[in-house]
Amino acid sequence: MKALVYSAWDTLEVRDVPGPRPDAGDVVLRVAAVGICGSELEAVASRSPRRTPPLILGHEFCGEVEELGPGAHDVKVGDRVAASSVIPCGRCGSCRAGATHLCPQRQIFGMNRPGAFAERVAAPSSVLFPLPERVGPLEGALIEPLANAVHVWSLVTVRFPEVVVVIGCGAIGLLALQVARAGGALTLIAVDTNEARLQMAHAVGAEPVFNPTRQDVVAELRDSTRGAMADVVVDAVGAGVTRRAAVEMVRRGGEVVWIGLHGDATELPGREVVLGERRITGSYAVTARYRDRDRAVRPPPDRRGPVGASVHARRRRARLPRAAHGTARGVCEGRADAVTTSWGDPYRFPPDPPLRFASGSVHWNLWVGMCRFATMR
Ligand SMILES: [Zn+2]
Ligand SMILES: [Zn+2]
Repeated sequence: MKALVYSAWDTLEVRDVPGPRPDAGDVVLRVAAVGICGSELEAVASRSPRRTPPLILGHEFCGEVEELGPGAHDVKVGDRVAASSVIPCGRCGSCRAGATHLCPQRQIFGMNRPGAFAERVAAPSSVLFPLPERVGPLEGALIEPLANAVHVWSLVTVRFPEVVVVIGCGAIGLLALQVARAGGALTLIAVDTNEARLQMAHAVGAEPVFNPTRQDVVAELRDSTRGAMADVVVDAVGAGVTRRAAVEMVRRGGEVVWIGLHGDATELPGREVVLGERRITGSYAVTARYRDRDRAVRPPPDRRGPVGASVHARRRRARLPRAAHGTARGVCEGRADAVTTSWGDPYRFPPDPPLRFASGSVHWNLWVGMCRFATMR
């Protein structure tokens, strides 16, 4: 089969490689669509030790079941499915407590096992969930990053957050904005250094948007909230400067969620955290509890939003915590009645200009552009 192989540091090349063989409990999927995660672009660009070549990347995908390994269950050949990126051991304390994404023995597609930048990928049947006919492959591949954004909101404990700031408007940040909007946040504020991303954030409901290359974003927030600051700040970048800004932008008793992983060591205003009882929570991936008999993800009643997926909680008018939890459960369990995703027309496909790798232009129809083609290069 053809695969995009991360064959050596700085080298991605399209190669013919042997197709995957299903281990016990696995199925082989024919990949229909796969997203390019910012973490993967950054891993390649920075020679990340978390993803070392040789490796096939790709953890946001969906496809059609082509072959069943021994012991694969609840799927059959021909099923259209999406996958969780995290494969938990299923036996440890974390897994038994339902925190499968924190499993110390977890595997990740495109990290500890081959990912989906290929025509086929082997995946345990236990991390798959079926896609209804009406959910297309692009939406299917977006479910994993969307679920990440929903997981962020599932961790927020502030009651009735009204002002929500999202720092970093890549795919996760844009999805987090839309989940917050769906959950009923009244004011969404987006922060990014890239004007094109800010325009996308505005298009999905952020108003105002701040660009720290032109503005003092903390002062701007203070002005626009008359000193109240934000109830919740999501840092979807993870640089020292954005983590610090997140703490400076949240009100006393407010909550910061870090999901970005750009940097590591971070200096913070500790007094502000202590004296203001500001909470900082890390958010990682999603739980793998997708499996439920009546799960599904359905297309939206309306197709608002030019950027990627829009999320619509059924209780759209409900305040954030309730709806966000409902949405979180909906995505994690894939329940049809809680969550829908929608697409506008955010990208050209194939991307123009195409992504350039060591082997030249990539034009496969298994590539999903999402907003990242426009924003990550
Ligand atoms: Zn990802
Ligand atoms: Zn485990």
